[in-house]
Amino acid sequence: MIRLSRLAIHNFRVADIVLTTLNAKFIHAAFGLRYLMANLGELKSRACLAEFDINQRPLDIAEALLSRNPRIIGFGIYIWNVEPTTEVIATIKQIRPEIKIILGGPEVSYETEEQKIIEFADHVITGEADLKLAEVCRALLNQSDSEIRNPQSLIPKTIPAEPPDFSQIALPYDLYTDDDLAHRIIYVEASRGCPFTCEFCLSSLDIPVRQAPLDKFLAEMQKLLDRGLKQFKFVDRTFNLNVATSRAILEFFLARFRHGHFFHFEMIPDRLPEALREIIAKFPPGALQFEVGVQTFNPEVASLISRKQDYHRLTDNFHFLRRETGVHIHADLIVGLPGETVESFGAGFDRLIALGPQEIQVGILKRLRGTPIVRHDAEWQMIYNPHPPYEILQNKLIDFSTMQRLRRFARYWDMVGNSGNFIETTPLIWGSTSPFHSFLGFSDWLHARTNRTDGIALMRLMELLFEFLTSELHLDPKPAAEFLWRDYRRGGRHDKPGFLKDFLSEEKVAPLRRTKTALPKRQARHSV
Ligand code: SF4
Repeated sequence: MIRLSRLAIHNFRVADIVLTTLNAKFIHAAFGLRYLMANLGELKSRACLAEFDINQRPLDIAEALLSRNPRIIGFGIYIWNVEPTTEVIATIKQIRPEIKIILGGPEVSYETEEQKIIEFADHVITGEADLKLAEVCRALLNQSDSEIRNPQSLIPKTIPAEPPDFSQIALPYDLYTDDDLAHRIIYVEASRGCPFTCEFCLSSLDIPVRQAPLDKFLAEMQKLLDRGLKQFKFVDRTFNLNVATSRAILEFFLARFRHGHFFHFEMIPDRLPEALREIIAKFPPGALQFEVGVQTFNPEVASLISRKQDYHRLTDNFHFLRRETGVHIHADLIVGLPGETVESFGAGFDRLIALGPQEIQVGILKRLRGTPIVRHDAEWQMIYNPHPPYEILQNKLIDFSTMQRLRRFARYWDMVGNSGNFIETTPLIWGSTSPFHSFLGFSDWLHARTNRTDGIALMRLMELLFEFLTSELHLDPKPAAEFLWRDYRRGGRHDKPGFLKDFLSEEKVAPLRRTKTALPKRQARHSV
């Protein structure tokens, strides 16, 4: 039986316009959908939001949408939901072909006509649809019934939307419900666009950079703080681009800081002037998380993909963040870029490990629709999976089986290196050798032992890690067990795992986490 609470977050009600999307996870509150709703003007009272997630069955989603008896359904289409949403729309069009389907979102904003989902849509708004959607809905609702049945509708199928000026759009923060604030990830943005030109990135097409009017934005942030929101996820692609604005925002939050506050920002790594350093250093440990895209340490690769990066400044900024602040750094590297060999990627990984970020996300290159990375396809023999998320399968320098090894490396690194469950034990895997090559060896061994990259319970993973350290690397089991035991207790646990008992002293010890923390779990494990 379908549980109503999971089917849709918002009240089930009949509405002429339903705005909907399938989120990647229930916990993600759809930000774009709320922008569209906030900007519907007089049509707002005739509209409702309906959020789903990709783990729900398309047929059930179609049923829930049809039960609202809409005349128009607007779908937000993203890389993670395009396939199940295609099924939802195909079903709706079979049952109620007269319902107007409008698509929008990054996945349908480029290479639009080549996509299957477009066949089932009446209209597609490409670009930022905040204001354009209301215009299209107004026109559709004003059409007479005879016009609506007329296939020669005057409204074109593909409707380009110019990037709206921030001063013209309504901010959507009131549309987060109290339930959203209590249980879901809340996204905010102080700017849109990116001035840089990294060829793999959709944001490189997203110019010009536009700032939300600062006073208006901060007033909305104050309202969220007053409603009790503690964790803010900024989606600005380059939060530290405009130093004066980023500093003002950081000062605003620092002045209002309470226990449990947590702010996530995406930063470019080589821009941290003194004006920002000074304010960043004042935040308590764990309160700030920076997602820092490094992507490659190979200057030739960076140049091939039109990414400008000052490695000297990047290094200096990492040193500052790790030595003088309590910022949690989540750094990104990409596997599969044109010109990047396994060796040069590995050297970059080792360089990044030495800089000490708490997490390294190893991403596999994706060919996002519309991005100029395609210009390398012939020369570098880039072969991508045709299905979302369009990850690279092989290229001239990395064959398919090696790419698969690196894909598993990324997955296992996330489970072991990033999770915070093995902070002290992970470096034992490489000792004084190359972290990349040693972890790749562990990754190959782990895959041979388990034949899977998911569904490995924490205790089983811990036991396998102990086996690898002692049987494959021939480390002394007693100190290895002590390291694992300390990591295990860091999670607040104190029951000795059976496979470690023979190697640990008898004395009773308390869990390592001594102070209560309100940080997200993974960050909390890194902070003990
Ligand atoms: S990777 Fe980052 S810096 Fe480069 S275009 Fe994308 S958002 Fe901008």
